[in-house]
Amino acid sequence: MATSIVGFPRLGEFRELKFTTEKYFRGEIEEAALVETAKELRRKHWNLVKKAGISEIPSNDFSHYDNVLDTAFLLNVVPKAVQDLDLTDLERYFALARGYQGEKGDVRALPMKKWFNTNYHYIVPKFEKETKVGLASQKIFEEFTEAKAQGLLTRPVLIGPFTFLQLADYEEGTAATDYLDDIVTTYQAVFERLAELGAEKIQLDEPSLVKDLSPEEKTLFLTIYKKLLADKKGLAILLQTYFGDVRDVYADLIALPIDGLGLDFVEGKKTLDLVSTGFPSDKVLYAGIVNGKNIWRNDYANSLAILEKIPADKVYLTTSCSLLHVPFTTANEELEEEILQHFAFAVEKLAELRELDTILAGGATDSLAANKALFARERVGKNTDLANRIASLTNQDYTRLPAFSEREKLQAERLNLPDLPTTTIGSFPQTAEVRDTRLAFRKGNISAQAYDAFVAKQIDDWIHWQEEVDFDVLVHGEFERNDMVEYFGQNLSGYLFSKNGWVQSYGMRGVKPPIIWGDVTRLQPITVKWSSYAQSRTNKPVKGMLTGPVTILNWSFSREDISIKESTLQIALAIKEEVLDLEAAGIKIIQIDEAALREKLPLRRSDWYEDYLDWAIPAFRLVHATVAPDTQIHTHMCYSEFTDIIPAIDNMDADVISFEASRSNLVILDELQAQNFQTQVGPGVYDIHSPRVPAEGEIDQTIQAILAKVPSRKVWINPDCGLKTRGIKETRESLVRLVEAAKSARQKIQQ
Ligand code: GLN
Ligand code: ZN
Repeated sequence: MATSIVGFPRLGEFRELKFTTEKYFRGEIEEAALVETAKELRRKHWNLVKKAGISEIPSNDFSHYDNVLDTAFLLNVVPKAVQDLDLTDLERYFALARGYQGEKGDVRALPMKKWFNTNYHYIVPKFEKETKVGLASQKIFEEFTEAKAQGLLTRPVLIGPFTFLQLADYEEGTAATDYLDDIVTTYQAVFERLAELGAEKIQLDEPSLVKDLSPEEKTLFLTIYKKLLADKKGLAILLQTYFGDVRDVYADLIALPIDGLGLDFVEGKKTLDLVSTGFPSDKVLYAGIVNGKNIWRNDYANSLAILEKIPADKVYLTTSCSLLHVPFTTANEELEEEILQHFAFAVEKLAELRELDTILAGGATDSLAANKALFARERVGKNTDLANRIASLTNQDYTRLPAFSEREKLQAERLNLPDLPTTTIGSFPQTAEVRDTRLAFRKGNISAQAYDAFVAKQIDDWIHWQEEVDFDVLVHGEFERNDMVEYFGQNLSGYLFSKNGWVQSYGMRGVKPPIIWGDVTRLQPITVKWSSYAQSRTNKPVKGMLTGPVTILNWSFSREDISIKESTLQIALAIKEEVLDLEAAGIKIIQIDEAALREKLPLRRSDWYEDYLDWAIPAFRLVHATVAPDTQIHTHMCYSEFTDIIPAIDNMDADVISFEASRSNLVILDELQAQNFQTQVGPGVYDIHSPRVPAEGEIDQTIQAILAKVPSRKVWINPDCGLKTRGIKETRESLVRLVEAAKSARQKIQQ
């Protein structure tokens, strides 16, 4: 057998690529220095993979920003505005990723979207009428040649044409089929050139195949591949899928003249069933058996049981998806060995592939025994009280009474807010001073007393400012929090934190998800102190601010020994205690953020409810079901793409929901109206992801557009999201405008 991986992380063991790129963005180093660092990292990573004994090594999985954007440049799917900029290739590339504002022009960045069901974000390519598809970048060839010069024959990786076309945006009046022939010709030109350079195989990533495919989509896929494979220019083609199974096209795939097929045996529920129907002997099956998304050691006995059932003649062992989605290595972690031995990050997963391969060949019996022993030992004790509590939950625990329409009246009486009440989403700017002071406290350089005094002062200042500007519902500002998930994790049992467990999220940005290690319970009240302090400083209501259970789970590395449903319910019970404590402390409005609710929504629509929403939504309800009818529960979501799950959102049974809306054209509002959505809504009235202050009149217009679709008694006025990444000046200017706009809209209503 042989081994391979779908791709390798590129930020570097210590995020070298990020730090170097940021220096370049700040103008501290030249382009050449950045290019050199990138080359060094590629060399290091290829060698790591090779030294681990992996037989097929990918190249072109590296990227300066994002692989989809790389593919757009390769195919010349680059908007005219950027093509016309008089810049170097790399500058133009970054212009498209991040926007460019300078002497040479002013272009906006392309939008960014979530990469399937991961927390990685890709740049959405844009086809314009003027787009002339053709070979326009040398990156894939250069990286192949670079590796070859180091004595490595790599397998270049490219986003496949179907997935690329599926993910792209199209200018009105254009469609994927307009570009199809040129796309196919360009991929063939890539094959030809790679073959000339000595390549033998190419990997085409087609994760879009694991979604539910309409007949039209299936036809599009088959049309592309029939044309494409009519002339492979002498290259062997590996068609790689991941993040699920390919049930809609399996029969077609095995009939195509491809040379290898990569399938996901970890997330693909039906992969083994599909393969059991037969796999052709003329193709290699790349069996994705080592999880590219989670950080736990592979359970060899389990993997071997699956591999034994695969009827294929030629099987290569590989990862379920690119290792991009896991941290680099456990080698730099400071956790105890007892704990660490349960983890495998990217580098350790390479060794697992090799070991599995050796075991299959009859060797490494001691490794197999050690692995079995690891999984046989009890890793963490079980909290039986907690398990019983969850097992005995009944419908009542998930149901808030009385119904929303009753509560709405009681809350209106108690809170006595004006029409179009104004509020913010929670955080205020986390200045360098805030972050430095927190760090100093953590390192023991300042006392708890001094730190508390500092946080209290921040809260005082901002409460005072919010009163002055005349907000209706205030927030304390979240100055004590580093991160909306980690902060809670630090106060829950069962959580662990890595030192270097960074995973690429977007651009050069990484996130360091905390690890759910054991059963989760609340160790002590978490937010009560600062929320009640803030409330003591004003007569206006201050919103309590919590992260919801589904978001805490989705932004953590989750356990594999119990279901994510069970973990989420544990977290929900912990957050529920917090909600009740806040309420007892006199907090009248509590916001429970579900920023990442959509993150683990299955890729197949047919799995949405049964596999996810049927327990995720109740988990949210469990948190707030027992508060008093006149306690107002808010929730917040960081996107507006929930047109398709409105009934589920409705089922959360919150009293108010805020969400991102300023950049989308408010289509969501039509849908809310059409589906008779009752919850009060705060569609964000300006975009906080940009430092730009909304112009005079801009927020007013947005509010009018909202009022044209939602009855005014249901509308709240707030920004799109929290303000922690923004500067103080732009934040204050924008918020002053927001309150003014709300007031003038209020007057119009009353006329
Ligand atoms: N309350 C959080 C904040 O304002 C919400 C952040 C988020 O939605 N990502 O920072
Ligand atoms: Zn948000």
